[in-house]
Amino acid sequence: MINVTQTFLPPQQEYQAILKKVWDTAWLTNRGQLVIELEEKLQNYLGSNRLLATTNGTLPLQIALKILAKEGEVITTPFSYVATTSSIVWENCTPVFVDIDPGHLTIDENKIEAAITPDTTAILATHIFGNPCAVEEIQRIAQKHQLAVIYDAAHGFGVKYKNKSLFNYGDVSTCSFHATKLFHTGEGGALFCKDKELMHQLYYHHNFGHNGPESFYGLGINAKMSELQAAMGLAVLPYMEEILVKRKSIVKGYDNSLDFNYIKKIKIRKGTEWNYSYYPVIFEKEEQLLKVQTALNSKEIYPRRYFYPSLNHLPYVKDIEMPVSENISKNILCLPLSSSIENSTIELIVQTINQSLSC
Ligand SMILES: *Cc1c(COP(=O)(O)O)cnc(C)c1O
Repeated sequence: MINVTQTFLPPQQEYQAILKKVWDTAWLTNRGQLVIELEEKLQNYLGSNRLLATTNGTLPLQIALKILAKEGEVITTPFSYVATTSSIVWENCTPVFVDIDPGHLTIDENKIEAAITPDTTAILATHIFGNPCAVEEIQRIAQKHQLAVIYDAAHGFGVKYKNKSLFNYGDVSTCSFHATKLFHTGEGGALFCKDKELMHQLYYHHNFGHNGPESFYGLGINAKMSELQAAMGLAVLPYMEEILVKRKSIVKGYDNSLDFNYIKKIKIRKGTEWNYSYYPVIFEKEEQLLKVQTALNSKEIYPRRYFYPSLNHLPYVKDIEMPVSENISKNILCLPLSSSIENSTIELIVQTINQSLSC
C-alpha cells in the first residue's frame, strides 16, 4: 500500500541511544536536555529566529491567536488544513475568509484590505505546501492597519524565501512536526518569534503561565514538548539533507513524466528555495480527479485530497462563497511523495494517471 506520505523512521538503535539519556536522568518533560538540544539544533539547521518546541502544531496557533488576535476578526485563507480555521474559532475569534490566488494558492494579498473592519486584529495565513505567501505585501498591509501577522507554516520546514528562513516572516510563525510532515517528532511542533517581549508571553502561555513554581505571569495552557518527542526529532534531523535530495529527485521524476496537457502544477513563488513537501496536481474537472483517484486506489495507491473541502464550508463558520478556493479544493490531489518511495512505484503512478487522463 502506498500512501500520500510515508513517515521517515530513523535507525532504531540511533533513536534508542538518544532515549538512553532519558533513562539516565529520569527526566521526561518540562524542558529537559533533549528539548533544549533539539531547539538549538533546529535553529542552527534552519538559520531561523529563536524557536520554542511545542507538543503539536495546533497549540502554537492557538497561543499566538490568544495573545495577538484578542477575540477579534482574523483574516484568513479558506485553503488550508482545518486546524488553521478551527484554532481561530476555538480562541473565540471570528474567521474572515479572503479567497486565494489561483496560481500560488496562498491568500490573495490583493483582496485583504477590502476585508479589514474596525474589529480586525490579525491576519492568519498559511504557506500552503511550503509555498510562501506574499509576505512583503502582507507586512505592508498589516503595518498600515496595525494588525498582527501569524503564519501557519506547518508545511514550511526548511523553506527559504529571499535567502531567509520562511519561519522568520510574520510576528509569529508556527510549524507542525506531526508524523505526516516533512520533519517530525511523532506529534510535535514549534513557534518562531523574533521579538523578545512577545516570545516571553508565548513562552509562559505554553507553560501554564508559570513564573517559577509558585507564581504566575498570567493565563496559560500546556503546550510543552516532551523529551520522548524531542528524542525522535534528534534522531530524524541528521537525515534531513538525504531526505530532501530523495524527495527532490521524485519531484523531478513526476515533473518529467506526467502528462501536463490535462493537469497543472502550483506556481512556487519567485525567490523561494522550496522543500519538496508535497506534490499537488490540479485537474480541469473534478470528474477527472475522481477517475484518477479510483484508478490509483485500485492499485493500492492512495493520494489525498489536500485540501478538501474549502474551509468556508465548515459547519461552524459563516458560509460565504470563495470561488477560487472552492474550485481548487475540488480539483487538487496530492500524489504520494516520501523519501522511501521506489522509482518503479513512481513510474506506475505516472502511467496510471496518464492513461486514465488520455482515455
Ligand atoms: C498539520 C497541520 C496543522 C496542525 O499540526 P498538528 O501538529 O497536527 O497539530 C496546522 N496547519 C496545517 C496547514 C497543517 O497541515
